[in-house]
Amino acid sequence: MRPTKVARAAGTGASVPIESCQVCGHAPLDYVLSLGYMPPVNQMVPVGQVPRQLPWFPTTLLHCRNCELVQLGLAVDPAIIFPPEYPYTSGTTKLLRDNFADLQRESAAMLGLGEQDLVIDIGSNDGTLLSNFQKGGQRVLGIEPTDVGDIANERGIPTIKRYFGPEVAREVKREYGPASMVTAANCFAHIEDVHAIVDGVVEMLKDDGVFVTESHYLIPLLETLQYDTIYHEHLRYYSLTSLKHLFEMHGLEVFHARPIPSHGGSIRVYAARHGAHTVQDTVRRMLSAEPRGEVMVKRLAGFRRDVILSKLRLLSMLRELKEKGARVAGISAPSRASTLVNYVGLDEGLIDYVCEIPGSLKIGKCMPGTQIPVVDEAKLYSDQPDCAVIFSWHIADELAPKLKAKGFRGQLITPLPVPRVL
Ligand SMILES: [Zn+2]
Repeated sequence: MRPTKVARAAGTGASVPIESCQVCGHAPLDYVLSLGYMPPVNQMVPVGQVPRQLPWFPTTLLHCRNCELVQLGLAVDPAIIFPPEYPYTSGTTKLLRDNFADLQRESAAMLGLGEQDLVIDIGSNDGTLLSNFQKGGQRVLGIEPTDVGDIANERGIPTIKRYFGPEVAREVKREYGPASMVTAANCFAHIEDVHAIVDGVVEMLKDDGVFVTESHYLIPLLETLQYDTIYHEHLRYYSLTSLKHLFEMHGLEVFHARPIPSHGGSIRVYAARHGAHTVQDTVRRMLSAEPRGEVMVKRLAGFRRDVILSKLRLLSMLRELKEKGARVAGISAPSRASTLVNYVGLDEGLIDYVCEIPGSLKIGKCMPGTQIPVVDEAKLYSDQPDCAVIFSWHIADELAPKLKAKGFRGQLITPLPVPRVL
C-alpha cells in the first residue's frame, strides 16, 4: 500500500515534519537521535559579510518498524537545499570516477549491453557516470535539473534539464524508446517523492530493463558512526531490507546487490520486473547480515549513545589542545563537515580556518552556521598550525600522506569514528 499522507515541502519555501514512513506509510515512527537544529549545508555566507538572520532546521532521525527505513524527521523545500547554483560536481572526486567506471564494467558484462542499448541516468550531474557508458558504446541520456547539466551537454552527454517524474518519463520513452538500464546514483535518497521516481523508472524500462541505484548504506553508517552524513539533503538512509520493500511495492525484484566504497560506504542494488533476471545469492547474503526488528532497535539505541560520546571525546581532545595554546585548523569542507561542526559546536574560536584545494567554490566563504573561514590549502603550509582536523575523515588514508608530502608538519586528527591523532 502506498503511503496516503506524504510530507511535501517542495514549493512551501519552508519545511514539513515527516510523520509517517516515506516508503510504507507506517506511523508513528520511532525516535532514534536528534542532532539539534542545523543550517542547510550549502548556506555559506561570504567572509566579512555582516552577520544576518539565517534559517536553521531540526535534524532528527526516525526509524520505521514496519519496513526498517531510517529517515529524517523533516523535509525541507528543495529550493532551499538545492539552489540552482549548487556547487557539487561528481566528476571532481577520484573515488567516485573510479566507482562509475566500475559500474559500467560490471553492468555491461552482466547484462550484455550493446550499441542499441539505451542507458538513462537520473540526477546525472556533470555526466561523469554516463561518460563511461558512452565510451562503452551505449546510447546515453542524462536527466538533471540544476545548471551542472550544462557541463554534461557541453561535453557531449545529451542531458535534459528537468526535475524527473512520471511525466518526464513518458516524454523520454516516446522520444528515445524504452531503456535497457536506468541508473540513480546518490540522488535516490534526496528526492521527496520516491514513489513517483520509481513509477517513472518503471515507465521507461524495457520488459527486462534494469534499474540500478547507488545510495549511502545504513549499515556502515551505523558501524563507523557516520552521523555527519545526516543532513537535510538526505531524507532516507537505506538498508537493502528497506530498498527491497520499496521496490516490491512497484513490482520490482532485487536480483543483485553489493557494497561499494563511495561516500564512506554505499550500496549498489540491481532491480528488474519479477522473474526478468535470475536472483543472485548476493541478495540473500546481504539481507541476512542486516539487523531488523528488535535487533535494529537496539542497534540504533547504541548508535545514539556512541554519537553523543564521540562529540564529548572530540571536545575533550580539543580542550586539551587549546589549554596548551595550540592553533587548530580544519582540512576540507565537504557537506558532511557542516553537520559535524554544528553538532559538536566548533566555531571560529576553536577552528581558525578550514582548507580547501585551489579552485574550490567554497574558498572565501564561511562554514555553514559559523564564521570559520574557508581558505586555500596553501595557507596550511605557510601558516603551519599545530594541529588540523580532517573533516573528510572517510578518505583520511588518501589525504594524510598527501598533506605530509606537501609539507604540513603539525598533528593530524580524524574526528570519527573515534577521535584520534594519526
Ligand atoms: Zn516504513
